[in-house]
Amino acid sequence: MVQFLGAIRLAPSSSLFGFAHSRLRFSLPKYSISVSRDGYPQFKRTFNASLQSKSADAQTAVQAPAEQSEIIFLGTGTSEGIPRVSCLTNPEKTCPVCSKATQLGSKNKRLNTSILIRHPRFPGSCNILIDVGKFFYHSALRWFPTYGIRTIDAVIITHSHADAIGGLDDLRDWTNNVQPHVPIYVAQRDFEVMKKTHYYIVDTSVVTPGAAVSDLEFNVIDEEPFLVRDLKFTPLPVWHGIGYRSLGFRFGNICYISDVSEIPEETYVLLKDCEVLILDALRPDRSSSTHFGLPRAMEEVRKIQPKRTLFTGMMHLMDHEKVNEELIKLRDTEGIDVQLSYDGLQVPITL
Ligand SMILES: [Zn+2]
Ligand SMILES: [Zn+2]
Repeated sequence: MVQFLGAIRLAPSSSLFGFAHSRLRFSLPKYSISVSRDGYPQFKRTFNASLQSKSADAQTAVQAPAEQSEIIFLGTGTSEGIPRVSCLTNPEKTCPVCSKATQLGSKNKRLNTSILIRHPRFPGSCNILIDVGKFFYHSALRWFPTYGIRTIDAVIITHSHADAIGGLDDLRDWTNNVQPHVPIYVAQRDFEVMKKTHYYIVDTSVVTPGAAVSDLEFNVIDEEPFLVRDLKFTPLPVWHGIGYRSLGFRFGNICYISDVSEIPEETYVLLKDCEVLILDALRPDRSSSTHFGLPRAMEEVRKIQPKRTLFTGMMHLMDHEKVNEELIKLRDTEGIDVQLSYDGLQVPITL
């Protein structure tokens, strides 16, 4: 069941962009460009086109056919991101994975766990985001132009840690410039946290008149299935540390569980006949108090028996190539299809 809570909003400002001056100034590394207000739309199109073509050049992304549903992994790493800054500044020793992660196109470079579900709808398609963490802006900057993603039609929240909700403020770019508002689907306990961490977005009456913050529409969910733009989502309640609840989500035969230390017995029923399982696997050797490690995650894969598994939420001890080389052997030995995911991975799905 979904309970709709209209956000408390001020009347929208008359200008979408809220410019205070008649001339706009754009600062680029070596340039400062001044454009008259009338010339702004044309400048914006040219500027965006140049940004987009650069991103597309850097990444050989293939845009899926319009009728094909797909998942795009916006982030597959831990809260602090990979590479860790502390590893790169350590004079004592070199961290092999973080060093590799600095190389262009490295699959070891990981931002906060998040996926985008692109679901065809007429007209166009519907983009549903699961989690909007601290590094959301950087993920979106990297992958939205590459994959031609424009709107954010809904955001579903797994839990209220910073790497899942820290980017709520960045949604202002969408609600100021792309669309009127973004619907957020969130459990009551996590909404209570947002009231503290993002009080000015939940209650926009506290914002200085004229300032433009994210315009979000909060929908409180419980642990029952709910619809987002006609697509059914079934919450998969799990433990993410003792006494702390996080939600995974099932849509179609895809199950996404990004933050888990224990799966309650009643949740296994919801994981039956899973085609693609996306599952938390923090480190290669052992679990932590809040996350599965690879051995435990593999135990769960053998129990749940999905057709295909992609791990996510990996820390800097997980070397993409090395771990995947080992995991791929399980296809021959056990008939298990399991791999680490990576930022920017695009997976066609059937919904
Ligand atoms: Zn490291
Ligand atoms: Zn968490």
